[in-house]
Amino acid sequence: MLDWDTPRNTAQPTFIPSSSLADTTGLGSIDRSGGRVSVDEKAMINCRADVNQLLPLKYKWAWEKYLAACNNHWMPTEVSMQADIALWKSRDGLTEDERRMVKRNLGFFAASESLVANNIVLAIYRQLTNPECRQYLLRQAFEEAVHTHTFQYIVESLGLDEGELFNMYREVPSITDKAAWALRHTQGIENPSFVTGTPEADQAFLRDLIAFYVVFEGMWFYTGFAQILALGRRNKMVGIAEQYQYILRDESIHLNFGIDVINQIKIENPHLWTLPFQEEVRQMLREAADLEAAYGRDTMPRGLLGLNATLCEQYMHFIANRRCAQLGLSYVFAEVDNPFPWMSEAMDLKKEKNFFETRVIDYQSGGALAWD
Ligand code: FE
Ligand code: MN
Repeated sequence: MLDWDTPRNTAQPTFIPSSSLADTTGLGSIDRSGGRVSVDEKAMINCRADVNQLLPLKYKWAWEKYLAACNNHWMPTEVSMQADIALWKSRDGLTEDERRMVKRNLGFFAASESLVANNIVLAIYRQLTNPECRQYLLRQAFEEAVHTHTFQYIVESLGLDEGELFNMYREVPSITDKAAWALRHTQGIENPSFVTGTPEADQAFLRDLIAFYVVFEGMWFYTGFAQILALGRRNKMVGIAEQYQYILRDESIHLNFGIDVINQIKIENPHLWTLPFQEEVRQMLREAADLEAAYGRDTMPRGLLGLNATLCEQYMHFIANRRCAQLGLSYVFAEVDNPFPWMSEAMDLKKEKNFFETRVIDYQSGGALAWD
């Protein structure tokens, strides 16, 4: 016999929000007397309004990013690996330096995609108390799964040592140092007992957003894209380069979503964005650029394909300053030119018509389903 009104087992009170607290998970007892949500009640963090009501939308930018992400759907297995396999297996197709760079690059990304995905699902999602932002996070989490799938597909196609690749984040110091730095900022937030609502906790949450969206996806991934796209521009490993271009397209939305989230939290909670905290964020970006410079020296000890450790360090300074500008912070490094201007072309997909035209149009016209 079903009795829908029986309250849940009160022996587990920690899972039932007390009446004085907002239900930020959306999974607590249903508030039968609660009114309908009005836009003004919606908030990025510490929201008291029902998080199960997507409409009315408050943050159009979040919904638009969700739609844009859905229009960018792709799968790694759609990209042919034949040319890459032939080149990788040929004895003199790539130099030893190029092989070292490719393998460490793949190793960095292979684990990083999982770290980013786990941070979204286990740390960020619960704290972001807005349904349209959560809608985007659900899409982003799937995209991170697609990216992880890409590295599985590359390992399988090229016959790489999977243990070596997926353990690089534990075994190659320049990669371990980056992962460990980012993890410092998610540890604590992923703890089930962590809750926002105090300035200290809310700032800890901001640090996690900055470590993952701005640093991991918005700085470190960009050196990684530059390395592989430099090969692709010379007609080497063109399958992986094509996959990286799709990943780059996804990641640029992830980054911009993260920036919008941080800036919106700042607008709604100006007391969090103190001068000491701003200085702390700038210091995080400096540390991140230093860690990336070490990765550049490790993956490109001699320089190749128009890349070298010094240019990569300059690129990180250029990117770090751009991220500061996006967050409303003053620059952390002396102004430098972008040493890889061709990267902005790779990022501006309107200029890459031939590259994306077919597939993007295929997906966008895929609204009508053919069942047979
Ligand atoms: Fe990703
Ligand atoms: Mn991402």
